[in-house]
Amino acid sequence: MEKPRIVVIGDLDEEFHRILKPHAELREIPPRELVKEIENVDVLVVRGDVKITRELLDRAVRLKLIARAGSGLDNIDVDYAKQKGIKVVNAPDAPVDSVAELSIGLIISLARKIPLLDRHVKSGGWKDSRAIGIELKEKILGVIGLGRIGTRVAIMAKALGMRVIAYDPYIPKAKAEQIGVMLVDSLYELLKVSDFISIHVPLTDETKGMIGAKELSLMKKGAYLVNTSRGAVIDEKALFESLVSNHLGGVALDVLSEEPPVGNPLLKLDNVIITPHIGGSTLESRRKIATTIAGEVLSFISTTCQSELSLDVSRKALE
Ligand code: NAD
Repeated sequence: MEKPRIVVIGDLDEEFHRILKPHAELREIPPRELVKEIENVDVLVVRGDVKITRELLDRAVRLKLIARAGSGLDNIDVDYAKQKGIKVVNAPDAPVDSVAELSIGLIISLARKIPLLDRHVKSGGWKDSRAIGIELKEKILGVIGLGRIGTRVAIMAKALGMRVIAYDPYIPKAKAEQIGVMLVDSLYELLKVSDFISIHVPLTDETKGMIGAKELSLMKKGAYLVNTSRGAVIDEKALFESLVSNHLGGVALDVLSEEPPVGNPLLKLDNVIITPHIGGSTLESRRKIATTIAGEVLSFISTTCQSELSLDVSRKALE
């Protein structure tokens, strides 16, 4: 009898293949082949850069499970998938430490202008008046979105001596208090007092463009902004204006509204640090994503597909 057909788009840690190979017909394809292949797939494994649209799901006659190898689900029409009886799983815990560490790295890079000074030295310079940075100790960090990653960032920032406040209307005050973070009632309160702001919200209709011209103007002059969540949370045009008018001190972005960027004017500014969406790109995070997703797929096919497909699934494979 037939084994379940799993199609993988994107480069996954080898552990994923090791776990699933004995139990399924596993194929890796490039994104452009998905439209052609989708009708023959039982389980689809994708990263965040592949859009799973309503039109694609309409063609997916066999599809039973979409496994997002990573955290955010904003690339998948989850509601429509559910309507069609297709389960969607992800690995939200896997990249938390990696993204939080990158966020802290970007905060320090902004405070000490590390990329700027690195470029300065490599182009023949040495001491420079621009080398004067600021300490993080006693500075206020405003965390927008105190979920998995925001919480980890808050804890690390406190260890660096920062005073941390957060805006997240969906969590109880007690959760913030437990980690010594003051939860503020409005975004505006956070914007006005923070020396650094780090964004950790999901991309939703509500958070799209939540940092626009008005919000940026409310930030302290010279304050710094870090975004490792999703590019579309910030209005990049307004951000560019705020930077060229010297209102903001600097910005660090791991995510952009268009990735990879095409003609994005932010790339030309010295006080902007941009990394290529590498929040979860560590060996540890990749391994955790691979094992979590393999476990989800394995348990799904062992329960759901067993009656329809020949399968010898053993949880031992995960050990
Ligand atoms: P999470 O769901 O654990 O936390 C998100 C928090 O945001 C929640 O506490 C929620 O209540 C809060 N929130 C939602 N809407 C809000 C709003 N309007 N205002 C303020 N708070 C709001 O998510 P997470 O795992 O911490 O991930 C956070 C972000 O990081 C997501 O956008 C995710 O896609 C992104 N991410 C990026 C990378 C990367 O490579 N850069 C990797 C993983 C995750």
